[in-house]
Amino acid sequence: MSGFLVSLFWALLFIGGGIFLAYQRIDLRTSTIATGIALAAYTVFGDGAWWWLILLWALFGIMIVPNLIEVRREKITKPLLDVYRSMLPSMSNTEREALEAGSVWWDGELFSGMPEWDKLMSFPAPKLSEEEQAFVDGPCEELCRMIDDWEVNHELGDLPKEVWDFIIEKRFFAMIIPKQYGGLEFSAYANSVIIQKLASRSAVASSTVGVPNSLGPAELLLHYGTEEQKQRYLPGLAAGTEIPCFALTSPQAGSDAASLIDTGVVCKGKWQGKEITGIRLNWSKRYITLAPIATVLGLAFKLYDPDHLIGDKDEYGITAALIPTDTEGVEVGRRHNPLSVAFQNGPTTGKDVFVPLDYIIGGPEMAGKGWKMLVELLSVGRAITLPSTAAGGGQAATYATGAYASIRKQFNTSIANFEGVGEAITRIAGYTYIMNSAVSITSGAIDQGEKPAVPSAILKYHCTELGRKCANDAMDVQAGKGVMMGPNNYLGRGYMATPIAITVEGANILTRSLIIYGQGAIRCHPFVLRELQAAGDEDRDRGLIDFDNALFGHIGYAISNLARSFFLALTHGKFSRVPLNTPTRRYYQNINRYSAAFALASDFAMLTLGGDLKKRELLSARLGDILSSMYLASCVLKHFENQGRRATDLPLVEWSIRTLMYQAQESLHAFLLNFPNRWVSWFLRFFIFPRGRTYKTPSDEIARRVVEIVTTPGEARERLSEFAYTTLEPGNPVGQLQEALELAVEHEPLERRLRQARKEGLIASDYLGLQIEEGEKAQVVSKAEANSLRDYHEKVSALLAVDDFAPDELRRCPAAPAEPAAPKKAAKKPARKKAATKKKATRKKTSKKKKTAKV
Ligand SMILES: Cc1cc2nc3c(=O)[nH]c(=O)nc-3n(C[C@H](O)[C@H](O)[C@H](O)COP(=O)(O)OP(=O)(O)OC[C@H]3O[C@@H](n4cnc5c(N)ncnc54)[C@H](O)[C@@H]3O)c2cc1C
Repeated sequence: MSGFLVSLFWALLFIGGGIFLAYQRIDLRTSTIATGIALAAYTVFGDGAWWWLILLWALFGIMIVPNLIEVRREKITKPLLDVYRSMLPSMSNTEREALEAGSVWWDGELFSGMPEWDKLMSFPAPKLSEEEQAFVDGPCEELCRMIDDWEVNHELGDLPKEVWDFIIEKRFFAMIIPKQYGGLEFSAYANSVIIQKLASRSAVASSTVGVPNSLGPAELLLHYGTEEQKQRYLPGLAAGTEIPCFALTSPQAGSDAASLIDTGVVCKGKWQGKEITGIRLNWSKRYITLAPIATVLGLAFKLYDPDHLIGDKDEYGITAALIPTDTEGVEVGRRHNPLSVAFQNGPTTGKDVFVPLDYIIGGPEMAGKGWKMLVELLSVGRAITLPSTAAGGGQAATYATGAYASIRKQFNTSIANFEGVGEAITRIAGYTYIMNSAVSITSGAIDQGEKPAVPSAILKYHCTELGRKCANDAMDVQAGKGVMMGPNNYLGRGYMATPIAITVEGANILTRSLIIYGQGAIRCHPFVLRELQAAGDEDRDRGLIDFDNALFGHIGYAISNLARSFFLALTHGKFSRVPLNTPTRRYYQNINRYSAAFALASDFAMLTLGGDLKKRELLSARLGDILSSMYLASCVLKHFENQGRRATDLPLVEWSIRTLMYQAQESLHAFLLNFPNRWVSWFLRFFIFPRGRTYKTPSDEIARRVVEIVTTPGEARERLSEFAYTTLEPGNPVGQLQEALELAVEHEPLERRLRQARKEGLIASDYLGLQIEEGEKAQVVSKAEANSLRDYHEKVSALLAVDDFAPDELRRCPAAPAEPAAPKKAAKKPARKKAATKKKATRKKTSKKKKTAKV
């Protein structure tokens, strides 16, 4: 062998071996031994010069030092820990509580740079129990049938009494309450399925049912209430004799909810004739769902004890209590009008409301623990109600739009055949598949005991954003039909409702910019939280040991991510481990690649920007986008498996994952482009994109196959809208559109025959309605065929029709009665203004009256 080849062999052995050890995350000790053996072999058999061998052995000596644990801790870790402690950003209690809420699940694996797919794959597919299935098929279907969205939103401004009675009688408000208190005790998955179905029919129904089953008094009591409080409220909440709401938001404190200025002061006062120690509350809250009709108010306020009646602290911080709304001083009843979607939402105030101390949820010992309670519950609740609402809306939009685009013809063909329309349909279907996957997999994880704080924030943000995109696209495809409001419009109200989901439970801009990565970075990183905790440990010796372990683990992890990121980018992840050898195997590998790149970029961002990363929201949001794309793509893969790996669903899977992973690539690219330290940016770019940006968006061919799924009756179309309310009945356009779609397929051969006759000049018209008459006369179709075509054409025409109104029907308020001519002197106020003032007073009265009449 020539000298050059020998040198090349040894060079490859050392470089390749090093990459292999790092790639496989082999521990420091084993790596040191392996390096020592290789070096010894090189010394004996290699051709290195003496000075070169000395240099290599010296480097090896440095590698040995970290293996001498005592020396390492004293000489390396201790000085580093001192520097680290001096650099630690300050953290408020509310921030710490938010960080510690919930559990780390699959998000932690994605953060590790080396996801262990078996952990996700071994999760059982979520399933409805027999009882839950019966509820979905029974009361839930029935409730959908009872709702006339136009009547609710336009005419009554509320659900009709029989619907309220039905909701309460069937215990829709008690899905999360255990059976021992009279509740339904449904799983998170069942809760999610029910909300999806309701949302596909009516945003009012889904939000009315969603709120008491997510963050509200029942949930708070179940987790933190005393036994006495549970016995007092839960049976009533289950039976519907108590209507709950939860009041946190106030005019000053919206996104920054912890800055609320509503107060509770511990003091002596009279309660049922006796003097007791209690709390005097003052609050002003707004935007509170169900507040106008609530009988019990979950209230968040700051608790003060200036006279030290319950302890030695002046201030306890945010506290949560349950306040019956008939307590003196409590005001509820007035309503907001959220984008004309008529669910019950309104302000509430309380003036000098005196209540006993045991109104605090969990009793006086839970004083000041309110924030912790809320963030812990949000880590679950945020994953269910709003994401399921968005998924249900997406399913209805997919089902309706696919059918509509097939039956609506322009330029003598179905509009679904136009590629531009197909592009919008593909997005609706693909986004719906992503939402369905995310909601199903995450609620399934909750049922397995997880409290996935970061995935909850991911779902809240992305599902509501995807829901909004679906609504936009559906409106564009349905065009005028979607715009004209009236009883026949099945889209407009859902479209109007989308910004509501964007705003609540953490408005979306904040969720993306601050929460997803801001929480995820510390919670899910395998070492950062351990380092922080070790640095803050009051036991300094223990802190040093823990910090040392975490720090050296972290260094190994960073080296490994460098190697993995580079190798996986060079090979497109081709040789990385996958859990299944199926047509989706490459997608697992794509995620493996981006997981390593994300872990690497994330580490450098934290290392070089430290606490400032929190303020660099654009960078933090982009890192959050990468994590979200990987999480959602993993859910798609697992959902595909859970649904039995159906080949017919593959176009949806391919489109979804390509779209998500392309977004991950672009977010990572934008992150590196904007990274403030240019040296670090170039260094990272070399390891992350050695071949440039190679990931492509889904092809037009995949999109075409997705359009086919959605515009043709079949199992894949049904599965995609599996929980939407699609029953065929009068008043449900979604079911009627499906009927029309099936009829369109059935009549296609006849329509083709008519088109051919038109080409041959046997008939003259281009319009189906006239073609049928002409075709029958010219014996192109038989009488029976013509009748069948007529019936089909009538159904389609009825579905394509929109509403119109007499001008009086659209007047918002009854016309003001004509006033007798006023004597000249008295006519100071213009007549119109007078009428307006009068109307305002009447409106005020009516809403107050309504409050007492309700439920
Ligand atoms: C229909 C509806 C129902 C609701 N129901 C309830 C309820 O039942 N109980 C309850 O307590 N509350 C409820 N809310 C309140 C809801 O949670 C708040 O509206 C929400 O927290 C946002 O507050 P805000 O509207 O005052 O927006 P603001 O706080 O004024 O925020 C305005 C914008 O600034 C962004 N922003 C704020 N801070 C940051 C930041 N640091 N970084 C980036 N962006 C930021 C926000 O994302 C938002 O886009 C409801 C709201 C609505 C609209």
